[in-house]
Amino acid sequence: MKKYDQSIDAYKEAVDLMPGGVNSPVRAFGAVDMDPIFMDHGKGSKITDIDGNEYIDYVLSWGPLLLGHADDRVIAKLAEAAAKGTSFGAPTLLENKLAELVIDRVPSVEMIRMVNSGTEATMSALRLARGYTGRNKILKFEGSYHGHGDSLLIKAGSGVATLGLPDSPGVPQTVAQHTITVPYNDLDAVKAAFEKFGEDIAAIIAEPVCGNMGVVPPKDGFLQGLREITNEYGSLLIFDEVMTGFRVDYHCAQGYFQVMPDLTCLGKVIGGGLPVGAFGGKREIMEKIAPAGPIYQAGTLSGNPLAMTAGYYETLQAVEPAAYDAISKKIDKLEAGYKQASEDFGIPLQVNRAGSMFGVFFSDQPVVDFTSAQRSNLDYFAQYYRAMAEEGIFLPPSQFEGLFLSLAHTDEDIDRTIAAIRTAFSKINK
Ligand code: PMP
Repeated sequence: MKKYDQSIDAYKEAVDLMPGGVNSPVRAFGAVDMDPIFMDHGKGSKITDIDGNEYIDYVLSWGPLLLGHADDRVIAKLAEAAAKGTSFGAPTLLENKLAELVIDRVPSVEMIRMVNSGTEATMSALRLARGYTGRNKILKFEGSYHGHGDSLLIKAGSGVATLGLPDSPGVPQTVAQHTITVPYNDLDAVKAAFEKFGEDIAAIIAEPVCGNMGVVPPKDGFLQGLREITNEYGSLLIFDEVMTGFRVDYHCAQGYFQVMPDLTCLGKVIGGGLPVGAFGGKREIMEKIAPAGPIYQAGTLSGNPLAMTAGYYETLQAVEPAAYDAISKKIDKLEAGYKQASEDFGIPLQVNRAGSMFGVFFSDQPVVDFTSAQRSNLDYFAQYYRAMAEEGIFLPPSQFEGLFLSLAHTDEDIDRTIAAIRTAFSKINK
């Protein structure tokens, strides 16, 4: 049995210092009945905790580490950048470089504003959509997570779903009343909402592939349908690509599905593991942002040189289109391993994927929305989670999250993971 003594002590200390002992709820392990594992260092596909246990990492800081941990090239560039100064509060060339790169890669983005997190990106994009259209309401999908902005914490996914707090106290009713929620993949429900409120809907905000109720891809025609409805009513379509951007595909989910939103939110992935977010879109809309236009948005550390360096270096030079095929091939193998183990050990399992996004649900029904995701067997998930940790595999500690792979994951890592899945499934107590 693995020992977690140091982590257990560190957690005891932490609960007195921080609410729940963590700085973000998804780092708590309540859903899998464990104390949080405290990490010490990572390299490539591996991460090591403070007790010295090593794991193959499928969390990858919740997505951004496309090159794996502590990539030598990124670290060298970061050291160079840090030696020149960590923040100036004035423009730098690095900001132009990352902006150019994002505009080049993300098909619908003509102009971009950097921020510091995904939450800031979505909050700012909503303000822009409301300011631009002069309307109040937004439509989001049940079980989607778009950060913790007030308007977006209604029937949300990710940590709030894991903790069963989809509607957080502290969000004023006067704000919540402007958020309409409907099931993901349900165009009829979207149409019904527009028939009722369409003239006051500023935007639909959607994850083009959901990653916060576990991975749930859009049904054929769903994203296209959103584009048509928003066009018809003069509302904006916002794709929240904080997770999917540069993760699903080289040209993000919008390139993969060929549906172009008006605004796109990006986040962690473009920071290569440093704190970054961004929102961008059509020039005509983006030029309404201050100081070009009247809609205010700002940030002391936005466009930070270290964050720009990690993002710029990673995305431009290291992650070529072929990288996504390479990751997809590894996922093919992992998927086959999961399916075989499910069959051999009689464990009900759904595997969902889109491009290089991937997740599994302990359910015998297809998972297409939050209701079907919630039918998963959470007890099986918890047992599997603990057994996988014991086998040296670090996974997101919730059924309602996806798995992430990097270019550093080797075939041997995948083989070891499949062996661990078989051991874990064989031990699940039915
Ligand atoms: N949008 C999506 C789709 C996300 O997955 C997340 C975080 N996982 C966010 C927004 C919020 O990003 P951050 O945690 O950087 O605020």
